[in-house]
Amino acid sequence: MAETIFSRIIDRTIPARIEHEDDLCLAFHDVSPQAPVHILVIPKKAIPSVAHLEASDASTVGHLVLVAAQLASRLGLTDGYRLVFNCGRDGGQSVDHLHLHLLGGRSLSWPPG
Ligand code: AMP
Repeated sequence: MAETIFSRIIDRTIPARIEHEDDLCLAFHDVSPQAPVHILVIPKKAIPSVAHLEASDASTVGHLVLVAAQLASRLGLTDGYRLVFNCGRDGGQSVDHLHLHLLGGRSLSWPPG
């Protein structure tokens, strides 16, 4: 798969503010935060998007969600938060490496734009 900004964060060739790392994933602060807390949780496996998921990726995706929930708790998002996977052009995806946005720390409007 083609190299992306996120694969370069995983291999540490570009810097990021990392909050969590384990065998399956990395979580780091978004460079352009849209809320007081805006973290991206990404798999180390290079999956381009939700549309490219295979059945064998189910536990990895579940792990991303669990890590996001643990980070939300650790960072004190007791009033709630939002988890978002943007997918494809209409979904607003700009980096072709699967990533889960964790947004919190303010009241978030709905529906999104
Ligand atoms: P999306 O639009 O869903 O593909 O989200 C991509 C996100 O990656 C955006 O919120 C960007 O601000 C964020 N981003 C892009 N480059 C970096 C970087 N070098 N470090 C951290 N976040 C980044």
